[in-house]
Amino acid sequence: MSDRSFLDWPFFDDHHRHLAEELDGWCAKNLPVDHSDVDQACKDLVAKLGAAGFLTYSAIDPDNPQPLDVRSLCLIRETLARHDGLADFAFAMQGLGTGAISFFGTPEQQQWLHKTRSGQALSAFALSEPRSGSDVANMDMQAVLDGDHYLLNGEKTWISNGGIADLYCVFARTGEAPGARGLSAFLVPAETPGLTVKERLEVIAPHPLATLSFKDVKIPATALIGQSGQGFKLSMAVLDVFRSTVGAAALGFARRALDETVNRVQNRELFGAPLFDLQMVQGHVAEMALDVDAAALLVYRAAWTKDNGADRVTREAAMAKLYATDRAQVVIDKAVQLHGGDGVRSGSVVEGLYREIRALRIYEGASDVQKVVIARQTLNG
Ligand SMILES: Cc1cc2nc3c(=O)[nH]c(=O)nc-3n(C[C@H](O)[C@H](O)[C@H](O)COP(=O)(O)OP(=O)(O)OC[C@H]3O[C@@H](n4cnc5c(N)ncnc54)[C@H](O)[C@@H]3O)c2cc1C
Repeated sequence: MSDRSFLDWPFFDDHHRHLAEELDGWCAKNLPVDHSDVDQACKDLVAKLGAAGFLTYSAIDPDNPQPLDVRSLCLIRETLARHDGLADFAFAMQGLGTGAISFFGTPEQQQWLHKTRSGQALSAFALSEPRSGSDVANMDMQAVLDGDHYLLNGEKTWISNGGIADLYCVFARTGEAPGARGLSAFLVPAETPGLTVKERLEVIAPHPLATLSFKDVKIPATALIGQSGQGFKLSMAVLDVFRSTVGAAALGFARRALDETVNRVQNRELFGAPLFDLQMVQGHVAEMALDVDAAALLVYRAAWTKDNGADRVTREAAMAKLYATDRAQVVIDKAVQLHGGDGVRSGSVVEGLYREIRALRIYEGASDVQKVVIARQTLNG
């Protein structure tokens, strides 16, 4: 049983505690799922999470718009990640893919949210390109306004849910100004002619990922999300909310690694006594527990700050993501070590966590980029 004492921290209200308990019970019954067909697994997970009501936290309700509850988003991601990385991924993409629509969409665009919140449609966030991952301002993809429509041409890569999403939030250059000031965001339904999957991408922890090609993709001018030329700001506002939740997912992986380790060192006999009797092992476990609690404090501090009305939480979210993902890598590595050969056996829980955690230190701003963000925020006060 995982440590639940953090739920008593003052960051949370009773409804957060109830949500965490309810979801934990749901996870125990429904997770992990079979990962042999990740596309089908993700579609099924979204449908199930939608039917159970958990996706209502992923986007605003168009009929009763309220700010997203970032603490709930983090609690859900932490809990799902502790049970099954693919379930966390499926949930996370419903929020990231629709974040721009939740925060800046027109009432007409927000009608999509009824479908994504109920699990009837999958969404994706298409920002990265072959030449512009960390360097978003270097984006090549063009959106040219021609009367009442835009024509999109270019390529997006590393797109989670690429090929299975029903709608894409796509960023492209509209050219109002050079660099970051000439980008805009668009809502593009998957069936729009000219939008195709160029390549599927295989990674160490399999997820639906693709490179997408856009050839004369014609979308109405009303597909523009927010203001023309404000796409970079808009993408950063979305990441400001969802970055803390990446930290929360890492926290879930780390907590699971700690749980597995506690169980292992208590039950594995070495030199005539439980492994836990060795003081060096106790030292590892202590460091793992410390990292988990410190990551949780940073993640839920960022979420609480946003929920309590902060306009931006750039510094807090960067710290939460950087610390929680980097330290989860260390926690999981220790878990693998303390499991001995079983730690690297294909299919073991800690082996899966070891593969799952790595990408979180790269996407939504690599660890190095978070350091740049924190340094700038610190220097500028
Ligand atoms: C599993 C996975 C899922 C993804 N899902 C999505 C998605 O759904 N949508 C989407 O748009 N993108 C997605 N991405 C793309 C992701 O956001 C990029 O991979 C990431 O931004 C890094 O870009 P890059 O791969 O081009 O690496 P690069 O930009 O080439 O960077 C390589 C490395 O250089 C270092 N670096 C970069 N900038 C700096 C700096 N300023 N200072 C110091 N060091 C630096 C970092 O170590 C970085 O990892 C996903 C990626 C992965 C791996």
